[in-house]
Amino acid sequence: MAFELVKLPYASDALQPVISQKTIEFHHGKHLQAYVNNLNGLIQGGELEKKTLEEIVAVAPEGAIFNNAGQVLNHNMYFLQFSPSPNSKEPKGKLAEAINRDFGSFENFKKEFVAAGVGQFGSGWAWLSIDKNGKLVITKEPNAGNPLRSQLKPLFCFDVWEHAYYLDYQNRRADQLNDLWNIVDWEVIESRI
Ligand code: MN
Repeated sequence: MAFELVKLPYASDALQPVISQKTIEFHHGKHLQAYVNNLNGLIQGGELEKKTLEEIVAVAPEGAIFNNAGQVLNHNMYFLQFSPSPNSKEPKGKLAEAINRDFGSFENFKKEFVAAGVGQFGSGWAWLSIDKNGKLVITKEPNAGNPLRSQLKPLFCFDVWEHAYYLDYQNRRADQLNDLWNIVDWEVIESRI
């Protein structure tokens, strides 16, 4: 079955000023739609048509199928993790405990996460994942990279491709990443554990 463009759980102007309506319209409506269309074209009539996105991303060799499937999966996680009015500005419960245990504090976690995003040279992603031992880890991935391929369970991501922030923040990637904390819906992240 063909993959579909994920439906946003908020209006296209709801995340302003952190993510403008124009950026949502291009990023979700054009860039992500193109990845979805490309992926569907590439897998049409083949074995991969029966697989989930996660299955394709975990095993596809480097190349067009992986690039487009990775970008669809990454963006689905990205767009669904935001809310214009999150119930809490920080994680609670088990996730909060794990962040404190593995990063010292929520403040320090945010600092390390933004540093990973800023430190990714060129296009890519910063990720928070759980490893096989239940420990939280921050990684950065180039291009369409996803921690699934390193046997990690991805929970949360920041997109550091220029298309994610350039219309609103131009070259100020760090500023956008720091502002994104205001719209992260921690209940969604907790539900991914
Ligand atoms: Mn993107």
